[in-house]
Amino acid sequence: MVQSTTLTKEVEAAESYTARIFETVKKRNPSESEFHQAVEEFLQSLVPVLAKEPKYEAAGILERLTEPERLITFRVPWVDDNGNVKVNRGFRVQFNSAIGPYKGGLRFHPSVNGSIVKFLGFEQIFKNSLTGLPIGGGKGGSDFDPKGKSDNEVMRFCQSFMSELQKYIGPNTDVPAGDIGVGAREIGFLFGQYKRLNAFDAGTLTGKGLNYGGSLTRTEATGYGVVYFTQEMLQDKADSLKGKKVIVSGSGNVAIYAIEKAHELGATVIACSDSSGYIRDENGINVATVKQLKEQERKRISEYTTHHPNATFVANGDIWSLSADIALPCATQNEINADQAATLVKNGVIAVAEGANMPSTLDAVAVFQENDVLFGPAKAANAGGVAVSALEMAQNSIRMSWTFEEVDSHLKSIMKNIYKNASATASAYDASGNLVVGSNIAGFLKVADSMLTEGII
Ligand code: GLU
Repeated sequence: MVQSTTLTKEVEAAESYTARIFETVKKRNPSESEFHQAVEEFLQSLVPVLAKEPKYEAAGILERLTEPERLITFRVPWVDDNGNVKVNRGFRVQFNSAIGPYKGGLRFHPSVNGSIVKFLGFEQIFKNSLTGLPIGGGKGGSDFDPKGKSDNEVMRFCQSFMSELQKYIGPNTDVPAGDIGVGAREIGFLFGQYKRLNAFDAGTLTGKGLNYGGSLTRTEATGYGVVYFTQEMLQDKADSLKGKKVIVSGSGNVAIYAIEKAHELGATVIACSDSSGYIRDENGINVATVKQLKEQERKRISEYTTHHPNATFVANGDIWSLSADIALPCATQNEINADQAATLVKNGVIAVAEGANMPSTLDAVAVFQENDVLFGPAKAANAGGVAVSALEMAQNSIRMSWTFEEVDSHLKSIMKNIYKNASATASAYDASGNLVVGSNIAGFLKVADSMLTEGII
């Protein structure tokens, strides 16, 4: 009796601590809904650990974790092909360096603003911690849209962006990489400008081309990692990907390699999408065609049907209305709401793993969990990309490069460990099977304990 009253008191104290923190975050970052959402999801998971361990509140860990160490905003002026002066806004959030130099991608997309980079940077702290590698959390980008721009325009933009960003990054301080809108072409231009203003230092950026310090398997890593994670979730239930019908949203870097690996492991991916709509191909999406359209020609996904007349394109269609065993959202944040989650459940989905960052709304996650759908949250399921980025940094440091097989086998075991850690942590905190709680707590503990050791900074 006494024990349970004490426990309730401690839980109440933890709940009031997290509520207080959430209020401060909202007040200090008004109208930044994506950032609020990422913090809310995280704080909800932490109550059991905060109730058990008052030391985190005593050291103001949540107050410090939710405030970026540094937020840099800058003007990015450039000139388009017609001689017009354009101005975009550049960002880098250096969120937390408790366990290593800031690490995280750059996103170039018109939707990028302070809220988006903060939500991404905040999640990156715990994702990076889960990889087991020594990398802190950061993120950045710009509201620049590479879509429809010429290569020269993209180059001039990247050069201007890096002229400012280079003041704040370096192999031991902050190591950017790609994200939406930043692929091999952009990383090349960014690296070239960094080198021109500083020196050739391969460890400054990851996702580089193989000729100048890139790592084999980095291109494939996020997509492959999502599928390895899905495989772990299924294996725990004595199931596998063999014969499963899969929907993958998006058709960018994450989606392409998720499709490729899902097919390799015996599943059939029947649909993928871009911002104009989705394509459906019951024979299985031909990944070579998607690569050609998206990686080389930079075309719309609707073009797929000209190569495969049996497939259909649904303009502005809802990919989540299709029925499948497995759903892999690999497009962008908040692409699945509660209604769409309910439709997936009704249509028989058994597993969902997030390739994009925060693709499911809080309500959508609740729908999956209430219906016992295996749910792999982004922080855990899509950590393969940044994990191989850390392996790229390691190779750059020792001035060597590993084979595809070596890096792939590291990736596989990292994804396996993330799953095991998240699953064991969930069980240890009475939330067996809840990988959201497990990932958040496991990611938190390593960072929070390092912060305790390093003093009030
Ligand atoms: N942008 C990716 C992510 O969301 C990769 C970051 C990196 O490789 O640093 O994790």
